[in-house]
Amino acid sequence: MTTPSWDLSIAYRDLDDAKIEQDIELIQQCIELLYLHVEKRHIILAMQNAIQTSEAAGTLLSTINTFANCHASVDATHTEAKALLGRVAKLNSEMSQAFSPYEDTLIHAEPEFIDAVLEHESADVAGQRFAIESSRKLSSSRLSVAEEQLLAAMKVDGRDAWGRLYDNLTGSLKLSLKLDGEEEVLGFSQAASLLYGSEFDKQEPAWRAVQGAMKTHQESFASILNALAGWRLTENKKRSKIADVHFLDPSLHGSRIVPETLDTMMSVAKANREVGQKAGLLMAKVHGLDELKPWNQLAAMPPLGDAESKVYLFDEAIEVIKTAFAEVNPEMADFVALMVENGWIDAAPSANKRLGAYCTKFAATRTPLVFMTWSGSRSDLMTLAHELGHAFHNWVMKDMPLCKTRYPMTLAETASIFAENIVRDYLLKQAKTRNEKLEMLWEELSTALVLMINTPVRFEFEKAFYEQREKGELTAQQLCDLMESTWKEWYGDAMTEADPYFWASKLHFSISQVSFYNYPYLFGYLFSKGVYAQRDAKGEQFYSDYVSLLRDTGSMMAEEVVQKHLGMDLTKADFWQQSIDMVKVQIDEFERLLDQED
Ligand SMILES: [Zn+2]
Repeated sequence: MTTPSWDLSIAYRDLDDAKIEQDIELIQQCIELLYLHVEKRHIILAMQNAIQTSEAAGTLLSTINTFANCHASVDATHTEAKALLGRVAKLNSEMSQAFSPYEDTLIHAEPEFIDAVLEHESADVAGQRFAIESSRKLSSSRLSVAEEQLLAAMKVDGRDAWGRLYDNLTGSLKLSLKLDGEEEVLGFSQAASLLYGSEFDKQEPAWRAVQGAMKTHQESFASILNALAGWRLTENKKRSKIADVHFLDPSLHGSRIVPETLDTMMSVAKANREVGQKAGLLMAKVHGLDELKPWNQLAAMPPLGDAESKVYLFDEAIEVIKTAFAEVNPEMADFVALMVENGWIDAAPSANKRLGAYCTKFAATRTPLVFMTWSGSRSDLMTLAHELGHAFHNWVMKDMPLCKTRYPMTLAETASIFAENIVRDYLLKQAKTRNEKLEMLWEELSTALVLMINTPVRFEFEKAFYEQREKGELTAQQLCDLMESTWKEWYGDAMTEADPYFWASKLHFSISQVSFYNYPYLFGYLFSKGVYAQRDAKGEQFYSDYVSLLRDTGSMMAEEVVQKHLGMDLTKADFWQQSIDMVKVQIDEFERLLDQED
């Protein structure tokens, strides 16, 4: 076996497959049906039919979207794939406009009506209780049907256009790097990816080139952030008819957590920031520095002495993951084999492939798909384990109705980081030399730095930005200043030089559909540690409990999932502290090994 590419034929043959057009036609018919029966939506049967229609169209839409997105990921210059994505986005907006009156009825109806609607033989209808109750929580901020429809229609070329501008701007940037007197021209994502690898001498020039490009376009980047935040704040104001809608409310609702949970997690993180700082200082020490620099905080571990880093073939990595997963349960190893045999992993490098890694699925067939680019490093191995963890999460939910499988980002990272932990622990046990052990723990240190320091910087920056944005737009300089002061507060002595243009270079601040795309990562990380702590405690019993926890992630609040499966309270500091203490043990172990002589 060589490094694999996707076989996506389970969905459609290719982008010219006539079935795509047929499915789009079906979606359009569904939209028409919803409009046709809209006046009957107070009748139980009509509502049940509408839910089924909307679920069917949603499944097709999601499948086409994933298919087009997969093609665009493998080849970022693929114009047909991008055109199809544009059509899907428009159809999505039309779908949500068509269903909007029904949703309005569901939100304001008497509980008896909801009970009667849920009484249905199809799980697609009967399984909607959590989803409906969740949207009913938003009843006080709901606008009229006409207003909701107008807003959904305007978003496509209003709010969401700012996100596309960001992608287009960063996608077309050309950066020039001076290396050994030679000039090298790179794309933005190529330059950014240099910061992750082991080409240490290129990292400072790459970072400086990114800074330069961000500065050149700072007015545009600042306009994007100001417009997105302005749109959301105005929308929230319009929705504040009965109670005030806070700028964090939409994010908390999507994350399925209560505000106290976020407050507790962030204050425990802040009180423990010296744990992440210590990771940073130890990493700096390996670099031969007193403190980290913004250009090397993501870098691979520099080799100690003359030891060489292990390079993995893709097959070898799969074997490692299978063996590690099998220690939890053989079913998990079988699942990995299935992913490989079916061609559901795309890892082969190619010229126009997009950066990054993700897991997605075809909603119609419940096929999990993993995307990444294989270069053979240990961090690639961890990325593969991470994405296979997500895939496993989807797989154990495949028999459930789709409406019960939509888990929030906070809980999404449970399975992925859990999978990383399994593999890391397995490799640590296998590691023979001090260097191998340090390399494995390095991954833990750099994750701790990103999630326990950098992620809170993103959150606190964004929060402060929204507070100030309520009074008016911020200039690029003000955004830089705010980033620098937040940076200082979290990194402390571990990195005194800030990354002032991080608000521009980090895509996450310019995603149009969601705000605060940051703290859920910290949540997922610490939550997953809490779950992992149960592995040894529960022994044999663990696997089935773990699977049932994963199956509940699409139909409960995060607090309920933790209460039911771990017997702990997310609004209390203990849960978070316990996870941070686990990270601390590994950082201390790294320090002990580093101080040891060979
Ligand atoms: Zn993930």
